[in-house]
Amino acid sequence: MSEIINVTRSSMPDYEEFCAEIKDMWETHWLTNMGVKHQTLEKELKEYLDVPYITLFTNGHLALENMLEGIGVKGEIITTPYTFASTTHAIVRTGNTPVFCDINDEDYTIDVNRIEALITEKTVAIMPVHVYGNLCDTEAIDRIAKKYGLKVLYDAAHAFGVRKNGVSSAAMGDVSMFSFHATKVFNTIEGGALCYNDGKLERVFADLKNFGIHGPESVTYVGGNAKMNEFCAAMGLCNLRHLDEEIAKRKVAAERYDERLGNVKGIKLNKRQSGVESNYAYYPAVFDGYKYTRDEIFDRLAAENIIARKYFYPITNSFECYRGRPGFDVDDTPVAKHIGDSVLTLPMYADLSVETVDRICGIILK
Ligand SMILES: *Cc1c(COP(=O)(O)O)cnc(C)c1O
Repeated sequence: MSEIINVTRSSMPDYEEFCAEIKDMWETHWLTNMGVKHQTLEKELKEYLDVPYITLFTNGHLALENMLEGIGVKGEIITTPYTFASTTHAIVRTGNTPVFCDINDEDYTIDVNRIEALITEKTVAIMPVHVYGNLCDTEAIDRIAKKYGLKVLYDAAHAFGVRKNGVSSAAMGDVSMFSFHATKVFNTIEGGALCYNDGKLERVFADLKNFGIHGPESVTYVGGNAKMNEFCAAMGLCNLRHLDEEIAKRKVAAERYDERLGNVKGIKLNKRQSGVESNYAYYPAVFDGYKYTRDEIFDRLAAENIIARKYFYPITNSFECYRGRPGFDVDDTPVAKHIGDSVLTLPMYADLSVETVDRICGIILK
């Protein structure tokens, strides 16, 4: 049996490079609490992402929860169900109510033409999700938010390093959350960050992630613990050095898929957005009217040890944990349901060879 090809493969630096990066920790014995690695990573990410403020977290999900707590919103948040569990759970777990807006079937982000109809006097924010490296229609979202006085909080977990007409995804909206989970384009093993333009938030997020401790004898805020440790920050410092090269390699794989699967009746590929430099985070293919269903393709690939992923499926407003809750109804978001039922993200990572892409496409087209 051939070796297993998974949907993704975590980026890692050379073993020697990582060892060199962590070596001084055996002298300092400084393992966490915003040490040198943490500070350096914040500085380097600020430059890479071109954003004035960044706060690192243990993971993307805690960054999202802390974002909602730190911004201080409480009420209805307009979002989409076409996302990872984290987005919806963060809204619910912080005592807010998600209001589900459908997505558009071009780039799978929030359908901006449907947002205004969902706004009520309880609406406090819009929490759109950039999907697969595609960006939301940020200009339209800004216009609506300004008109109704709403916060714009992006789940940018899929959009690390993406730019639109030169503007970094990190600088969009009031706050953008990134995940540095092992499966993401840029990883710190586990990790996450909030990026923002308003410096007043810096202290709020610092308090939230470190118990509100302000000095050895001063605790000024009821915060929790969501700090990134030094080993994770060191992994990030190493991975960041190779990121541009890794994204370029993903692009080669993506273009090979485009070549082999483009113009096949019943397979819809992810269109590149104009003016957007993608990070090629995922390679979604929608099987709609193809000779095999999405589930059949999944099984055919699995039989050859190629593990694709039904992502995002199920969509979050159909999760068992939310069954029976008002407002959680897949029929309210028919486009998200349809895409969720017919999408498959194919293997995509920097070291995916053109030969493997050809083999995957061969199985799909057979
Ligand atoms: C990965 C991801 C998250 C959560 O990030 P973690 O670092 O895994 O906690 C949130 N939203 C989306 C869209 C994601 O893909």
